[in-house]
Amino acid sequence: MLDIKVERTNEPKKLPEKDNPLVFGTIFTDHMFVMDYTLGKGWHDARIIPYQPLCLEPSAMVFHYGQEMFEGLKAYRAKDGRTLLFRPDMNAKRTNRTCIRLCMPEIPEEDFVQAIKELVKIDEAWVPTKEGTSLYIRPFIIATSPFLGVRPSHTYKFIIILSPVGPYYPEGLDPVKIWIEDEYVRAVKGGIGEAKAGGNYVASLRAQVKAHEEGYSQVLWLDGVHRKYIEEVGAMNIFFKINGSVITPELNGSILPGVTRDSVIRLCKDWGIKLEERKISIDEISRAHKDGLLEEVFGTGTAAVVSPVGHLRWGKDVMQIKDGGIGELSQKLYDNLTGIQLGNIPDVHNWTVEV
Ligand SMILES: *Cc1c(COP(=O)(O)O)cnc(C)c1O
Repeated sequence: MLDIKVERTNEPKKLPEKDNPLVFGTIFTDHMFVMDYTLGKGWHDARIIPYQPLCLEPSAMVFHYGQEMFEGLKAYRAKDGRTLLFRPDMNAKRTNRTCIRLCMPEIPEEDFVQAIKELVKIDEAWVPTKEGTSLYIRPFIIATSPFLGVRPSHTYKFIIILSPVGPYYPEGLDPVKIWIEDEYVRAVKGGIGEAKAGGNYVASLRAQVKAHEEGYSQVLWLDGVHRKYIEEVGAMNIFFKINGSVITPELNGSILPGVTRDSVIRLCKDWGIKLEERKISIDEISRAHKDGLLEEVFGTGTAAVVSPVGHLRWGKDVMQIKDGGIGELSQKLYDNLTGIQLGNIPDVHNWTVEV
């Protein structure tokens, strides 16, 4: 158990108006959680303080060598007024796997979840109530030692900030157009692709800009060695439904192990749908499309939950998935996952946690 000191703000901000569209990641709540780490002493000084700028040395290691990790999850307001988290233990476990890979100190799982719960409780009035909205939770750890040599930092800060967000697709599920990248790669086996690190995102920006210029909203990455096997989309894992079977790339060391991915696999298995986690090549997708067997493609991630894919573009090959609309399974998964997250559907797996 952490002993969390609380300093409440004297100047609470105005809550967003009811009709505010809550554009992702633009509004922050009144408070933040901070905890420091010092080599030899461990994590200490857990506190909740008013949301404010950080004061760091310009020599802080995070600015130079990118020793940084982050997480993302959401708190949802149920109809009965409870505030629910979705599988926060999974984010705690993934944080520690990321920390091991990036030579950062681990955080006890129960402390990670406790810090989130206490912060969300204090800013509970910020959990929006309109359909499709939620409170996005962003925990992150940065290296703070003032040192320009290359080694793991000796001091860190673990911080959690909160941001009310609107529905990812304000008009309801909306199929996205995806660009399959054949020039740049995101990650390779042995690298940091399976860690939730800012460094993976800076590596992805060039291809994202290129895809946007071509009129595509997201990038689908191929493996870094053969440029042949499907990995994942920007900030989502990817699933294909081919001739009745659901296929998603196996976790191979360069793919981020998504909590939503894990939940979708569980639900498909519960429903008796054939599900394979395996290598799948872009040629296999292209062939399935030509043969009329590519029934659905969708991405999964905390932000959009399930994101149907309407178009895939691989070089000159433009694949429209079915009629470019929303697949039946994509819709059913979206309805069930959001139903569980909001407490409207029985939570047989005990995935939700009350704040
Ligand atoms: C966070 C993330 C995902 C999705 O993970 P969830 O736990 O489902 O939100 C997928 N890919 C990448 C690269 C990510 O950073």
